[in-house]
Amino acid sequence: MITFQNVTKKYQTGAQPALDDVTLDIERGEFVFLVGPSGSGKSTFLRLCLREETATSGQIYVLGKNVKELSARRTPKLRRQVGRVFQDFRLLEDKNVFDNVALAMQVIGKPRHHIRTAVPEALEMVGLDGKEKRKMTELSGGELQRVAIARAMVNRPKLLLADEPTGNLDRKTAGGIMSLLDRINRKGTTVVMATHAYDIVNEMRKRVVTLSDGVVVSDQERGIYGKGG
Ligand code: ADP
Ligand code: ADP
Repeated sequence: MITFQNVTKKYQTGAQPALDDVTLDIERGEFVFLVGPSGSGKSTFLRLCLREETATSGQIYVLGKNVKELSARRTPKLRRQVGRVFQDFRLLEDKNVFDNVALAMQVIGKPRHHIRTAVPEALEMVGLDGKEKRKMTELSGGELQRVAIARAMVNRPKLLLADEPTGNLDRKTAGGIMSLLDRINRKGTTVVMATHAYDIVNEMRKRVVTLSDGVVVSDQERGIYGKGG
């Protein structure tokens, strides 16, 4: 699903690399936590997967494609095959729930009849059925993140990349979002989630890849995220 081979990313020549010789394989169907302190390279890893940044050296394969060799035309195609979720939700404030989710289908030209059935299905999956007409200002943080997850999943991506999806949520709400991501993963979507929430990582017992200063310092099955790294 994702392969990094000796990937180094330097933002400026001479600077410390944000990722330093990272080699990593994420298989289809996995749930992987990418952990490490702020500045350890988690977001850089996610951005490189979608060619929002390019690697300084090394090879990256996502969904079977060598990301470096993607043409300008093929890059949006790859991005559309990957769902994304962010800490700050990135929803459109002036649109309702239905329209926020529908937009992800409209931008890729899906026919209207398909959108009319797929959006309610996605909203049901995240537990927001019946809230199609709500405005973003009427929703709680947990509900906003559920809208964002419905949007990310409505085109049925094989891969979901989540960058601190619980960062703006209280503990209990975060737990609900984690059960949802777990359910999405169990239905077959590969999930990679960057976080520094110790409690969540330690409860889930999934694979844990730990970054420190751009280096993978541990990679554990059913791992924990210890305060000592
Ligand atoms: P994390 O997501 O773990 O907080 P990042 O990938 O955002 O880590 O950052 C890794 C390192 O790369 C940090 O030293 C950060 O300052 C640097 N960095 C991230 N993005 C940029 C950028 N656009 N330009 C220059 N340096 C950056
Ligand atoms: P932009 O190019 O400015 O991000 P788009 O029209 O492509 O704008 O998308 C509008 C919003 O919908 C953005 O917040 C974007 O992240 C989101 N979006 C678009 N397509 C998808 C998708 N397939 N999955 C998840 N979010 C999407």
